[in-house]
Amino acid sequence: MNKKNKLIICGGGIIGITIAREAALSNKFSEIKLLEKDPTLGSHSTTRNSGVIHAGFYYSPESTKAKLCSKGNKLMRDYCIKNNIKTNRCGKVVVTQNEKQEEILFELYERGKKNGCDLEILNKNKLYNYESLGITYKNFLWSPNTWSISPIELLNNLIKECKSLNIDFKTGEKIVSAGPSFIKTSKNKKYFFDYFINTCGGYSLEVAKLFGINTEYKLLPFKGLYLKSSEKIKKFKTHIYPVPDIEQPFLGIHTTITSDNYLKLGPTAIPVLSPENYKLFEGLNFKISKEIFLLQINLLAKNEFGFRDLALREIKYLVKKNILKKASELTTENLLENDYTWHSPGIRAQLFNVCTKKLENDFVLVNKDNTFHILNSISPAWSCSFINAQKIVSNLTQKIEN
Ligand SMILES: Cc1cc2nc3c(=O)[nH]c(=O)nc-3n(C[C@H](O)[C@H](O)[C@H](O)COP(=O)(O)OP(=O)(O)OC[C@H]3O[C@@H](n4cnc5c(N)ncnc54)[C@H](O)[C@@H]3O)c2cc1C
Repeated sequence: MNKKNKLIICGGGIIGITIAREAALSNKFSEIKLLEKDPTLGSHSTTRNSGVIHAGFYYSPESTKAKLCSKGNKLMRDYCIKNNIKTNRCGKVVVTQNEKQEEILFELYERGKKNGCDLEILNKNKLYNYESLGITYKNFLWSPNTWSISPIELLNNLIKECKSLNIDFKTGEKIVSAGPSFIKTSKNKKYFFDYFINTCGGYSLEVAKLFGINTEYKLLPFKGLYLKSSEKIKKFKTHIYPVPDIEQPFLGIHTTITSDNYLKLGPTAIPVLSPENYKLFEGLNFKISKEIFLLQINLLAKNEFGFRDLALREIKYLVKKNILKKASELTTENLLENDYTWHSPGIRAQLFNVCTKKLENDFVLVNKDNTFHILNSISPAWSCSFINAQKIVSNLTQKIEN
């Protein structure tokens, strides 16, 4: 095997880091560099998510998400066990409120079975045994493999492992331009590569453009706000999720139990102006934010894919009591304002397809020459990160061998 294969991965979130790890384990690359624009690795959606290892039953069976998630769930759980990362093996229930949601519940069950998930559909009289505080209309889903972990603990473990595998992390280096076999960074450095992988999360589309890749997508980010209990909770046993709108990529406000037993309520899906627009003017970028703003105005006017309805509904969750009210539909527990504080938000860097006029609901992989671009790494990309890394590296090593 010719090992003279220099790999550059750009974007130091969970997707980039797991690919770097897998590439190092394959022993097929002479050098692996991972470039990250920020001073620290993984400070965006990688550590600003719910920390829920999704089982994979939401997704329609032909999607990439569906094909990866159940295996990804197992790989991530196994990695955590092997590396002594604290897990909360609480499982999750999905509950309903009416007849229409019951139909969707059965649809999710069918999808789950096709997607290889361990899943049960049970009558409401059994709910007490799984989550005595849950409320459902007639039936509920039980997913035993939906665990939670601390995304920060996982990230730190992975970074340590990657360093031991001689992966060269370059932090504080933003990719700003690219040629056929090199990239240039904000520190005015030039790096040559044989293979390049773009894992820049919310900025992947912009980075792909540096390589002359034009797509039918535009960025349309949404902010996920959370409330977190001030104290550890003892009463809740499992995560409680509502039945989602299966046409949209968001799961609706839910209750989750963190690996250290706090209760989180959320996340919301409030339109924002950049992939890092966590606070009012934070993370704004004139060019990108202007494009997003113009798109939002257009979507608001035309209510394309129900954007206006979504925005008007979600904007209400800027007020704490409205999140508590929504979460209260799932549980008999009295959720009190004083017991919850705002927790660090995350941003879902969602892509909008200008041809179909819909949100892209699946991961998107674009290959041009010896460069690979992972676009739309929306939920459950974090849960799928280990299996995704295996697939990408296996495809790459096959290319190298041929
Ligand atoms: C609120 C919320 C809740 C979620 N909950 C879950 C969940 O429970 N389970 C689940 O599976 N998924 C969940 N997700 C989705 C999950 O967090 C993402 O799928 C995953 O984190 C994507 O990882 P990433 O590495 O692609 O992106 P990121 O973590 O955003 O990493 C991309 C990195 O690229 C860097 N970068 C960007 N531009 C450049 C550049 N030009 N040069 C160099 N570096 C650059 C960024 O600084 C960043 O560090 C959630 C997401 C959100 C927002």
